[in-house]
Formats: sequence, C-alpha cells, structure tokens
Amino acid sequence: MSEVIRLLPDNIANQIAAGEVIQRPASVVKELIENAVDAGATKIELHIKDAGKTSIQIIDDGKGMSETDARMSFERHATSKITAAADLFTLKTKGFRGEALASIAAIAHVEMETVEEGEQVGTKIEIAGSKITSQEPCSRAKGTSISVKNLFFNVPARRNFLKSDNVETKHIVEEFNRIALTHPEVGFVLSHNGNIIHSLDSAGLRKRIVDLFGRNFNNKLVPIEEETDLVKITGFIVKPEFSKKTRGEQYFFVNNRFFKDSYFHHAVVSGYDNLIAPKHFPSYFIYLEVPSETLDVNVHPTKTEVKFEDGRSIYSILRSTIKLALGKYNIAPSLDFEHEPQFDLSIEQQNSPIRQPEVKVDPTFNPFKTSSDAAGSTSSGTGSFGGGSGFSGSGSSVSSNSFKSLRPNKEEWEDFYKITEEVEQEETEVPSNEIQYEEPLKSSTHKMQLHRNLLLVQVKSGALLVHINRANERILYDDLMEQFMLSPIAGQQLMFPYEYNIQATQKLEWENNSTHLKRLGFDWNWQNNTLVLSSVPSMLEVEYVTQCLDAIIEKITHQDLDKGELVHELILSLSAAATNHKNRTLSEEEMNYLVDRLFQSEQHQYSPSGKKIMNTISIEELYNYLS
Ligand code: ADP
Ligand code: MG
Repeated sequence: MSEVIRLLPDNIANQIAAGEVIQRPASVVKELIENAVDAGATKIELHIKDAGKTSIQIIDDGKGMSETDARMSFERHATSKITAAADLFTLKTKGFRGEALASIAAIAHVEMETVEEGEQVGTKIEIAGSKITSQEPCSRAKGTSISVKNLFFNVPARRNFLKSDNVETKHIVEEFNRIALTHPEVGFVLSHNGNIIHSLDSAGLRKRIVDLFGRNFNNKLVPIEEETDLVKITGFIVKPEFSKKTRGEQYFFVNNRFFKDSYFHHAVVSGYDNLIAPKHFPSYFIYLEVPSETLDVNVHPTKTEVKFEDGRSIYSILRSTIKLALGKYNIAPSLDFEHEPQFDLSIEQQNSPIRQPEVKVDPTFNPFKTSSDAAGSTSSGTGSFGGGSGFSGSGSSVSSNSFKSLRPNKEEWEDFYKITEEVEQEETEVPSNEIQYEEPLKSSTHKMQLHRNLLLVQVKSGALLVHINRANERILYDDLMEQFMLSPIAGQQLMFPYEYNIQATQKLEWENNSTHLKRLGFDWNWQNNTLVLSSVPSMLEVEYVTQCLDAIIEKITHQDLDKGELVHELILSLSAAATNHKNRTLSEEEMNYLVDRLFQSEQHQYSPSGKKIMNTISIEELYNYLS
C-alpha cells in the first residue's frame, strides 16, 4: 500500500486556522489592537475603509520588532508571549497563540512597518496569501503600523458571507469599545472612511466611558467596589432609571479581558431588584479580578466565555455589590420610570385571582358601518392601512377600518409592510384566545376619567377600563404610519434651532438613516457632534424632542433593524414622545372622540409597543366588589 498521509502546506494550514481566528473584519481589528496593547503602546490608531472590507490599518507606538522578529511574527505558532504551558496560567498578555498574524497574512494583503526603540531604520514587509512579496528597510517613528487590505481576497465564500457595511462596522466598533474600556490608560483613535469616530485621550475609566458613550453618561454612573479573597469588583453601573429596552452597554471584564456571562448578567439584574422595569436592561461596566489560577480563560480566540472556579460565590458577591451601590447612592427614591400610580389599580386587579371576564360580543354590530359600505366592511386584512395584523385574528372583528379611502403607495411599501406586521405580532405576544372587547355605544355611554390616565366607560356587560396614554399612542401611531406611507410627515420649522449632543458613532447611524428621518419631519445640520435641528415632526412638542431623539438613537444604534422594523421603531418612538405626557382633564367630547378613534384601530387592544390598552370588568364582578 502506498502512503497517503501528507503534511499540509503551510499556506493551507494557515488558511484553515484563519477560518477559526478571523471571521470578519472585526476579528482582524481585535487581534491587531490586542497586539498593539501587548507591545506596550500608549497610543493606538485604527483606520478602516468600507467597514474593513477594503482596508484596516492599525498604527501603534509600542516597542516594535527587530527585522527577524518582523519576519517571524507571520509564522504560525510564533509568539513572544509564552514559552511554557505553565505560562498560560499567569498570562498578562492578550495574545499567546501566535496565530493571528499568520492567519491574517494567509487571507489578505498585509503590509507591516516596524521600528524598535532607539533605531533609525526599521523593517517593511509585504505579505499576501502567506507569501512574503517584499522586504525592505523603512523609517518611521518607533512602533508598528500594519495595514490589512482586501480581506478574504482568496476565500470568496468568506467574503460573500460578510454582512452589510453597517453591520460589519458595528462589529468593529464593538471590538474597539471593548478594548478601549479595558485600557483607558491608552489613547485611541478610530476613523471610518476618513471620518474620525473617536479620538480618546488616555484617561480614567469614568472619563473613558463618557468619551465613548456620550457626555450625558456622566451623571448616569454609579461606582461599584468590593474586595474579597475570591474576587475584587470595580467599575460602574448605570442608574436604574436609565435602563433600556434593548441591550446596549453590558460589559464584563475579568483580569482585563472582556467576557460574556448570562449567569453574572442575571446577578446584576437581580441586584437591581425591582428597580428596573421588566424586559429592560441595565447598562454596566464591571471589572472582576480573580486569582489567575481560579480562572479558565477560554483559549479559543473568538470565544468570549470564561470559566470561574467559584462562579456561585462570585454571583452572590456581585449581586450584593450592586445592591449596596444602589442603596448607598440612594437612588431608589428618585425612581420615576414607568411610574404611573394611577395605573396601580389595574395592576392589583391583575394580581387578584383571575376570572374570565364575561364579554358579550355582538359580531354584527359595527357603529362605523355606513349603509354605503355595509358590505364587506369587516377587515379583510389586506391592503388597508394597518390591516392584516394579527391582533383581531379572525374575520369577526367588531372594529372597522376607517382608513379605507387612503391607501399607501403599495408598490413602494409592500415588502416593508409585511415585515412590520410580523414584527408587531411577535413583539406583542398576543394571546391565542383573543378576547373581543365590547365596543361602547357612542352616545349613550357614561365615560369617566379616573386619576387622569384612566378612562372608565360603561358598556352593556359592565365597564371598560381604558389606559388613556396607551390609547393615544395607538391612535397617533396608526395615523403617523399611514401618513408616512403616503408622503413625508410635515415638520415644524423651529424658530430657534434645537441642539442635541450625539456620539460620533451615533452620528454615523443618524446619517445612515437620514432618508427615513427626513420623511419623519426632521431636518438638521451638524456642528461637530452636535445635531442642530431646524425642523421636528409637527406633532412633537419641543420639550419632548430629547425623549424622542433618545429613543430613536437607541433604536438605530443598538439594533440591526431591517427597513420595516426600523420604520415601526421610529414611529413608535415618535408617537410615544408625542403622547406620553398629556395627562390632562378631558372634556366629554374628547373622551368620546378618544374611544371612537381607538375602536377604529384594528389593534385597539394593544399599544404599538405591545402594552394592554383596555380590559373589561363585568357587572357581576363589579357587584362582587360589594359582596
Ligand atoms: P500572539 O499575539 O498570540 O503572540 P500574533 O500572531 O498576534 O500572536 O503575533 C505574533 C508576535 O508578533 C507577537 O507575539 C509579538 O511578539 C509580535 N507582534 C505582533 N504585533 C506586534 C506589534 N504591534 N508590536 C510589536 N510586536 C508585535
Ligand atoms: Mg496577537
């Protein structure tokens, strides 16, 4: 028999390794910045073009490499960082596998210039597909510059697999953030297509967080500190009232490495007790230090999980550290998020033994049905604005659609439409056995406003309780969505421009979404990182512009939304900001109008963000309260 086993040529072995280490431009960024940090750099610049697909350049002022080391650094398993397996347990460096440069050089065009301290002349190497194509002397300041061009030029499958520039840029920014947060003492610059996104001076942690995430972070932060034999905990958590609906800034570091851990995340969330609303996430920047022998750093280069010897105890310590910090800063009394005392009543009711409300529905009754459109006025779910959504589910919905005369430009928005509906259905978790609420008769019903934000309406079977804010939000959302489909929403020109500070990355996202934002009624220009608004949507009162912008920016920066989801979120943010504060006394006419308009909506039972707008209480239940 002939021998069939052969050693793989180096370039193929490197390409295979690259598949593991380098998955996308952000992986290159991570490896190269880590190398620069390991080289003792005090300033690191990262310049990317086209989300790193065209080029990634990293310039550091670290210790540089000799001519031989510069060549060696591209060999697989070439590392200066460990010499024995035991070193793995006392690791102080980021890298140690000696694989990154070899991998990158196998799948891109790489150019490196490096000069050691005290040397006038250094080495310039060009390498592509693992082959050195040129080596010559060069001169530059002490340190190393590596540029990586045409990533995956020889692995088309990988290249095609890359996501949009937007998504890839987000991954890069995320890697950048993680390292910038691990090393506040190092200065960083990040630029994309020639625009400076961050220019961070060497700083303390608090300033670094503020520089990265925006000036308004400064008064959101609460420091945490704890030291035990098992673990030392430092860092900052964000005050509970600034928790967000989307995941944003959740950062854990252990021994100066970023890691992810849902168990510890749970510890943090439970440390906040009930100070944050359900489904909200607190932001945190938490640094753990543990003896290195009690930590199993995952040696896989792209994995961010680590194992702790005594994770359970750390969980409890972490949880009580958070509690203590929040208590110490006496944050609890100032909480006012989602604070709707007027709604406590219905929450109590929800907690009481559940009784199936007796709802009597007259499926043929439809107060909006005029004799001229008597035929087929129940929603068919297609074409009509806001239609087809799953809230009413069956064709026996008692509500009708008043928007039939106005049809969106279907060609333009058809795809978007479908997506929006899917998203809404998913988000609102509509129970399968949907209850139909009895619609109050227009004129003959008594309506009463309770505690400003609740409306009690008499219906045949008992009483209908309506959450006024949510009802307003639903009505406005439906209106805005319809307007948006048809033409741009009218903006109001501001007499005095409205200024809003924004982070550099957010500026990028804002501009990426400029078409939608203009259609929504915004108009602006920039003064550095200040958004200067000359026009805002006409229904938005100026005092709620910040709330609206906060929500919009969070949506556009933290979520990978497709077009449909994006429009839904934008209009959601706008309708919430435009309605949430109008807790004034309503006239009888206004109450009637509110209920009428609400029932015209296909989705009158849930607010656009999925909260319950109404519930009924049967006559029997009402009398039961007195028995
Ligand atoms: P690792 O970081 O795991 O050692 P790499 O392939 O990332 O492996 O780098 C190989 C070696 O090249 C490093 O151990 C280091 O000695 C050297 N090196 C890489 N980048 C730099 C840099 N920016 N400055 C100085 N030396 C570097
Ligand atoms: Mg490395």
